[in-house]
Amino acid sequence: MIEVTCGCETATRLPESAIGTPFCCPHCQQTIQLVSGEALAEGAGTGDFDAWLTVAAGPGLVGTRLLLGGVADVLIGKRPDCQIVLPAPLCVDSGSFLFISDTT
Ligand SMILES: [Zn+2]
Repeated sequence: MIEVTCGCETATRLPESAIGTPFCCPHCQQTIQLVSGEALAEGAGTGDFDAWLTVAAGPGLVGTRLLLGGVADVLIGKRPDCQIVLPAPLCVDSGSFLFISDTT
C-alpha cells in the first residue's frame, strides 16, 4: 500500500494498482495522481511517492498533484504513452524524461 499525503495534509492509503488513475482528496477535492515509470508490485510503493509536482498552468491537469514514485525515469509530454500527459502546445511531441533520484 502507498500512503499518499495531499497538500491539505490528509493522508490516504492506496494500492499500487492505483498508479496512473487520478483520484480526488476526500477532504479538499484536489486531484491527485500517482506516477511511476514502472509497474510496482503490491507493497513495493510503501514509503515511496514522497516527491510531487503540481500543475500550475496549461490546458488540462491544472491543480493536479502528481506524486512521483518508483526508480524508473518518468516520460512526460504529449504522447498518450507518457506517464504524465500534458497536452499544452509548448510541450514537445516526443516527450522528455524526469530522472528519478531517490536519495533516502
Ligand atoms: Zn486534500
